Amino acid sequence: MDVSAALSALEALSSSTSTSSSGPLNALIDHQFTQSKQRILAGDDPKTVIVDLQKAVKTCKKDVEKGLKSWYGALGNVGKAVDKAFPPNLGAISKAYEDPPLFSAPEAADALDQVVLDSLGRRGLWDAVAAMEEETTLTYPKDRRALAEELQHIINSILSSNLEPALAWCETNKPFLNSPPHPSSLPYHLHKAVFTSLASDDRAAAIAYARANMMGFVPTQPVLKLITSCLYTGNDIPQNNGKDVDMDEEADGCNQRKAEEEDKKRERQEQLEELAKMLKDEFCRRYQWPKEDPLEVALDLGSRGGALNVIEKARKVMSEHLGPIRTWTDLPIEVPLPPSRRYHSVFVCPVSKEQATESNPPKMLTCGHVIAQESFNRLLKGGRRSAKCPYCPIETSQSVAQRLYF
Ligand SMILES: [Zn+2]
Repeated sequence: MDVSAALSALEALSSSTSTSSSGPLNALIDHQFTQSKQRILAGDDPKTVIVDLQKAVKTCKKDVEKGLKSWYGALGNVGKAVDKAFPPNLGAISKAYEDPPLFSAPEAADALDQVVLDSLGRRGLWDAVAAMEEETTLTYPKDRRALAEELQHIINSILSSNLEPALAWCETNKPFLNSPPHPSSLPYHLHKAVFTSLASDDRAAAIAYARANMMGFVPTQPVLKLITSCLYTGNDIPQNNGKDVDMDEEADGCNQRKAEEEDKKRERQEQLEELAKMLKDEFCRRYQWPKEDPLEVALDLGSRGGALNVIEKARKVMSEHLGPIRTWTDLPIEVPLPPSRRYHSVFVCPVSKEQATESNPPKMLTCGHVIAQESFNRLLKGGRRSAKCPYCPIETSQSVAQRLYF
């Protein structure tokens, strides 16, 4: 379990009344005590009332203990996740880098401050940004702050199911979003989300919405399929066909409907989260901001990615024989990174087994197989205009092979 998952589990506990210690206690005070008082006032035998009340207190105690158990479990998980995410010997590692201390050069110190300030701004922690501005000579650019606040506002609106600001942003930035080579599908997905939420209540309104806003996407997106699909969904057919149903079946149906509603809610939330992520990506692309927070990426690589542990191991093992590791510009070992963090993939030609270079770039053949340019040239030997793929029988003519960029 990673740290954020453990933290959300903890948060979920605090928002659930059954696991919060005040839930059962409040119930005890609000209901049991008032009820007992009323019973005594109404002339009930105080002895029996007290015995009942004792029982209620015992049950409440049990409930609180049960809730606490989940709390301890979740807290333990957070601790475990933190230990797992960060190298346990962080103190010892930082000691090894004390002479000269890390980030002691003014440029390095400035760069570090800048990265931290940017990260705070990205998260919208403006109090922390102000504090940091006071302590350093840096200032967070005003225009950037305005943009960061705009992004935050749009994202929060999307997550609370209000897509208006996002659609307005798309409208303002239409030329950018439509520009080649990668026209964005974000506006379509936003309209689609409005359409599906309308379709569950009022199909006619949904269809009218699609007609007014989505017809421009017909050439590139399955708009017509989407519109017609809403005509076939919904629950118009009576479930019991007029026959009598017994109570159990009715209760089952009720539970099923509840479960379906829960599923729908969850699906909608997932859809909104996906839209928020899409919008954030486009927003960052629009203003040429890094897609991910650089500080977060660096920390993630060092901690969860395990890079710090590998480097530390190398320092320990190698510095005995090869001198201080900090003077090296390259590490003579491979530091494995998670696939999502491999930014510069390399291509190795499956024919020649050589790594592709600028002068020998990867080429994709008609069939989709990729080989290096030189391997393709070898296949074209003898003035041939086309060559058969080394992996399948499909021929590719010289002019059709496409250069790929990794
Ligand atoms: Zn092929």
